[in-house]
Amino acid sequence: MGQLHIVFLPMIAHGHMIPMLDMAKLFTSRGLKTTIIATPAFAASVQRARESGHDIGLTIVQFPPKGSSLPNNIVSFDQMTTPALLPLFVEALSLLQEPVEKLLQELNPNCLLSDMFLPWTVDSAAKFGIPRLVFGGTNCFSQYISEQMQLHEPYKNVSSDSEPFVVPDLPDKLTFIRTQIAPFLLEEGTKNEFAKLREEMRESEKRSYGVVFNSCYELESAYADHYKKVLGRRAWHIGPLFLWNNAGAEEKAQRGKESDINEHECLAWLDSKRPNSVVYVCFGSMASFTPAQLRETALGLEASGQDFIWVVRKGKNWQGENEDWMPQGYEDRIKGKGLIIRGWAPQVMILDHPAIGGFVTHCGWNSTLEGICGGVPMVTWPIFAEQFYNEKLVTEVLRTGVPVGNKKWQMGPSEGVPREAVRKAVERIMVGEETSEMRKRAKYYKEMARKGVEEGGSSYNSLNALIDELSSYRPPGVN
Ligand code: UDP
Repeated sequence: MGQLHIVFLPMIAHGHMIPMLDMAKLFTSRGLKTTIIATPAFAASVQRARESGHDIGLTIVQFPPKGSSLPNNIVSFDQMTTPALLPLFVEALSLLQEPVEKLLQELNPNCLLSDMFLPWTVDSAAKFGIPRLVFGGTNCFSQYISEQMQLHEPYKNVSSDSEPFVVPDLPDKLTFIRTQIAPFLLEEGTKNEFAKLREEMRESEKRSYGVVFNSCYELESAYADHYKKVLGRRAWHIGPLFLWNNAGAEEKAQRGKESDINEHECLAWLDSKRPNSVVYVCFGSMASFTPAQLRETALGLEASGQDFIWVVRKGKNWQGENEDWMPQGYEDRIKGKGLIIRGWAPQVMILDHPAIGGFVTHCGWNSTLEGICGGVPMVTWPIFAEQFYNEKLVTEVLRTGVPVGNKKWQMGPSEGVPREAVRKAVERIMVGEETSEMRKRAKYYKEMARKGVEEGGSSYNSLNALIDELSSYRPPGVN
């Protein structure tokens, strides 16, 4: 076989696109030919990568695709502001099949590496006699818990929303309550579109060649072993993906989107602070809050007495945009102590700075992993998706963080965490008694994750094994 050609098909969400682009850069750096099929809204980040010297092919597919009932202005998953749009979005994703297959015909790759939200791609790959690898932008820990949850439905054995239940067949005893689980999973009877999609995704994963995780084996070894042994699936841990790419400051600052703060200004602010004295607060690309919650968060951060950088999302549909939530005189009071970034922050660059001593995170997997690699204790504040599972990894398995106490899975504006809970949790990771133990463990996992991608490290070896397997792949029935 000549040069191996991998086509990447991402989900149109920043939390999925960012690590997939990191992966394309990685495979390119190993001499493979790579092409990303991107929608217009996500092409800019691929284009930026190309301009900074990554030889990645870019092919565009329209979204919403032809025949879709989704309004034309919905081009990214973070625009899903109402559940009513979800069925249309799910349908639009499936309508991508025809145009993507046309592109595959032209591109003629050796492997299709596609997002887990595109379950039909397993059939597309089969049509072309190539393996399909699944990528969900997440870790094995949450995938495995999610499988056991769907298999055993332990939430059916409790009589109230607040009664804890244990998920069976896990390496650790982890308890949850019903409100931490996606409501569409708890529904009996007719399943909604999203629940159906989840089932298709599970089925598709079983039929795929294997799964690639943006994680490092050592961070979740027991779960990685269970995943392979109990579920009998192939998996490669090749993360943390963002660590492979020795990005320059500008590339780091423009990760995903262009930052809404000048990176030099941000770094100068951090440079003026003592080591480990600033808490970084950010909730990813999709989570949103009610004005009341933004206000409580503001007051809780102020009451903690810690210096902070807080990223508040902006955009037409987000509650943070009109600033009615801001307590009177707040910005004057926090001058010099608190930096509010409205929009998009250069997160990886911030977490890398020695002044950062803690991270308040929504537990999206990219952010969690970036926090682990930053070596800082975390306040976990999960909101939806698999974030409540990731919280357990941080607080109970790695024990490098404390929960703020949010127990409600919520797609759409989240609320319910009082200022006092914010204050207490921030103090616990920054100055409390437990801080130094948590900090030690956080540094340990940081080193471990970094070693994984060095020559001879677990992710390094796993990547080599994956490339070797793909190079010798023959479709079933072909010798
Ligand atoms: N991110 C960023 N700046 C921001 C918000 C997010 O660079 O202001 C990046 C963050 O570093 C991470 C990704 O966007 O790589 C968010 O992914 P994650 O899985 O944490 O959360 P999601 O957005 O999918 O909820």
